[in-house]
Amino acid sequence: MNHLWAPWRHSYITAEENPDECVLCTIGRESDRDADNFVLYRENGFYVVLNRYPYINGHLMIVPEKHVPDLRALGSDGQMAMMSLIAMCETALAEGLGCMGMNGGWNVGNCAGAGIPGHIHMHLLPRWSGDVNFMTTVGGTRVMSASLEDSYRSLLPYFRGEEDD
Ligand SMILES: [Zn+2]
Repeated sequence: MNHLWAPWRHSYITAEENPDECVLCTIGRESDRDADNFVLYRENGFYVVLNRYPYINGHLMIVPEKHVPDLRALGSDGQMAMMSLIAMCETALAEGLGCMGMNGGWNVGNCAGAGIPGHIHMHLLPRWSGDVNFMTTVGGTRVMSASLEDSYRSLLPYFRGEEDD
């Protein structure tokens, strides 16, 4: 029997200091702190950010700057912009991290396990053969910032290149 591996069913932030503040809105607003927040790219009202609570190094999230709860609230232009960013992330993970495969997904609503149910975001995770045992160890914990910085540095060139087109 095949199991559905669904790592996006996991809260992004479980113990933030201020639960009233939407962390995805905050990161969206703080465009002057992109490197501190591990934001890799911004385009068309969206940003790409490394998850600070990843299932695996290189766990990306594609997020609209607007606080909307689901994909349909983005409208067709927003949906297409998001899909185009997901494709850009796919390239970055494949070439920047050399992953062998990927998983992606999103949650709508509390019952589906959305960590931040009011603010839609897409998860994209790199996969390698035999990585599952490793992930069950680090899943849900904050990885060392050195690992995040390594992933950030490896992925960044693949996002900068697109701006020159
Ligand atoms: Zn928000």
